[in-house]
Amino acid sequence: MDFEVADEAFPVLSDVINCRKQDTHDDFKDFVDLDVDDLPVKHRNEQTLKYIQSLGNRVVRLVVEKPAGAIFGSGVVFRVGAVFIILTNDHVVGCEEDVKNCKIEFFYHDVTRNAVVTSRGQKMLGSSNFQDRCFFTFSPVPPAIEDMAMFDNSELVADITYSKDGSSMKCNGYVNMKDDKWLVMAPLPSPDIGEDCFCEVAFTQKGCDEPQLATFVRILSTEDKGHYIEITDVPEFVKSASLASWVAPWPMGCKEFTPMVIHHPHGVYKKVTVGKMLAVESDSVVDKLYHTAKTCPGSSGGLVITVGGDSSKYFAYPAYICIHCQGDRASEFRGVPTETGNVNVSLFNNS
Ligand SMILES: [Zn+2]
Repeated sequence: MDFEVADEAFPVLSDVINCRKQDTHDDFKDFVDLDVDDLPVKHRNEQTLKYIQSLGNRVVRLVVEKPAGAIFGSGVVFRVGAVFIILTNDHVVGCEEDVKNCKIEFFYHDVTRNAVVTSRGQKMLGSSNFQDRCFFTFSPVPPAIEDMAMFDNSELVADITYSKDGSSMKCNGYVNMKDDKWLVMAPLPSPDIGEDCFCEVAFTQKGCDEPQLATFVRILSTEDKGHYIEITDVPEFVKSASLASWVAPWPMGCKEFTPMVIHHPHGVYKKVTVGKMLAVESDSVVDKLYHTAKTCPGSSGGLVITVGGDSSKYFAYPAYICIHCQGDRASEFRGVPTETGNVNVSLFNNS
């Protein structure tokens, strides 16, 4: 399957010729025109529409100047305490250099670009080539972004301290749940853990000064850009914060859902596509959604909402948003015909 970055941006989809994914782009709807009638039948109500619109407003277009030329992708704004971050794929923004060379375009909602506000990448906070995701800060933060109601992920951020021979190394990591285990993704290469190395993992509840400790179990896996720590004895406020991130206007726990992608295909202004869920699967580091909602080069890093359902019946942890990642033209998936001619993969974002 191919990553979905674009090396050329078009003003409108009708200008795109020879798309490797689609014969036509007729069913890419303008995000600003999204209406109740575009929602899955069971979810045609104003509350769900407003919810999807408010999430979709956080989708941005990314323009990353690379040595071989600019690439175009998508991303989504999240909040950690007072800090706002962009989450996208590692294959869109892969290093500190890419962050510095990244232009972020908020509210690119129509061809006039009248509403567009731009910002620049500032600092990489974490990335993983295994998970194909990265998050980084940007500056300035547009006032309209600061004013948005967003879940604050700060209670899910761990302070990790490695101590060895009287010296210590600190970093922040993001808590995640996988196969009933609590993990922390730490954006640093794994230190050389021996018997004389001590790891402390602490979380701080909002309004409290005193951090609470979880118990370090082991380093689970490691890669060039980071490593995963298994922890236990996770403080109760961390567990409840992870569930408090559930704000979707449908009940938790439905296995059937309709994938809806909000993205910037071919670098054009913001579009919405809808498809069918094909499969939900997990490997050691990521939870994947296979679906048929149409995507194109430029869609990587876009937002996928599982309208009406979530991942809780498949995994230990309910998640209802994904980051879009890869896709291919395909008339069938494991013997079942696909109605859109696309098979795409998005990654569940467990927060
Ligand atoms: Zn296309």
